[in-house]
Amino acid sequence: MADTILVVVEQRQGKLNPVSYETLAGAQQLAAETGWALEAAVVGENAAAIAPDIATKKVAKVYAIEGEKLKAYTPDGFASALKAFIQSKQPKLVLMPHTYQVRDFAPKLATAMNSTLISDATGYRKDGDRVLFTRQMFQGKFAADVAFTGPGPHFATFQAGAFRADKIESGAAAPIENVSAEVADVRNKPEEVFKEAKQAVDLTQADIIVSVGRGIKEQKNIELAKQLADALGGEIAASRPICDAGWLPMDRQIGSSGQTVAPKLYLALGISGAIQHLVGMKGSRSIIAINKDSEAPIFEIADVAVVGNLFDIVPPLIEEVKKA
Ligand code: FAD
Repeated sequence: MADTILVVVEQRQGKLNPVSYETLAGAQQLAAETGWALEAAVVGENAAAIAPDIATKKVAKVYAIEGEKLKAYTPDGFASALKAFIQSKQPKLVLMPHTYQVRDFAPKLATAMNSTLISDATGYRKDGDRVLFTRQMFQGKFAADVAFTGPGPHFATFQAGAFRADKIESGAAAPIENVSAEVADVRNKPEEVFKEAKQAVDLTQADIIVSVGRGIKEQKNIELAKQLADALGGEIAASRPICDAGWLPMDRQIGSSGQTVAPKLYLALGISGAIQHLVGMKGSRSIIAINKDSEAPIFEIADVAVVGNLFDIVPPLIEEVKKA
């Protein structure tokens, strides 16, 4: 499998994590630029059921890796199964989405293979024959281009929003190979499968996010932003001070110490645009910012900048959206 990019897509309890499409879209682009072949693998229970969808994403082949010890996710099980598989195939590069699950097993996998992992990349660029991966450093103040050295296979993970899932290209269905996993000892087994509390939300999956910052002034005013989010069919999120104050739960925080999102529309209400916030949302397709300060840094990345008092702008906006 020389000069092949292998994308390991993520499935959880038999469902594909859609952020996998973003990594596939990036990998398609890289494969086109380098001339390297593109293949994909899906690991775990029901991998074979997910493979046909991936097979139509302009890959040369899909491997569905299943096994008795892979029924429940464990970092040992996934790292061990992928190690055996990757050793047998020797791809040049293994790309994965930077999800919680991948963060859990990828360092173990790369280390077990005496290789290197470049994690949380926001993109890549070609430099002659080399591929450099871009990483944000110092809370996004600097971007570093990092290259692999030494023999591969090398591993890299892409941040949510690094590539656009809707840019993914489809083609004729590629062949699917079912692989029976070789799994060494699994030392840690989950007692029960973790299920997120009902009210918890995965903001990375939201198409529309209405995000509030300190400009909202008081906890009771959050309701106004919620009304706008409901009218738009979106989710509510916030900058860190809002979550620190307990006005919204921590899982709604966007930024370097919160979630990284890339919705179709990100509406920022009374958010200044500190770098720690921007790194979590600047991949959004369209950004509308409402801020009374025309010099607010958020306007530097906004597609639509509305200078004004959010308490004057949001109530009529809700009415207009409801009418539409
Ligand atoms: P402010 O910076 O206070 O901005 C409020 C804005 O509201 C201002 O621009 C103001 O002009 C505007 N405004 C006020 N009244 C109105 C009105 N009536 N109408 C319209 N606009 C109005 N922050 C995050 O968000 N996420 C993170 O993950 C995160 N991680 C961090 C990690 C570290 C290690 C550190 C040091 C900081 C982190 N921060 C994070 C904090 C970050 O530096 C900023 O302090 C924070 O993002 C500011 O939040 P804000 O924009 O809501 O508030």
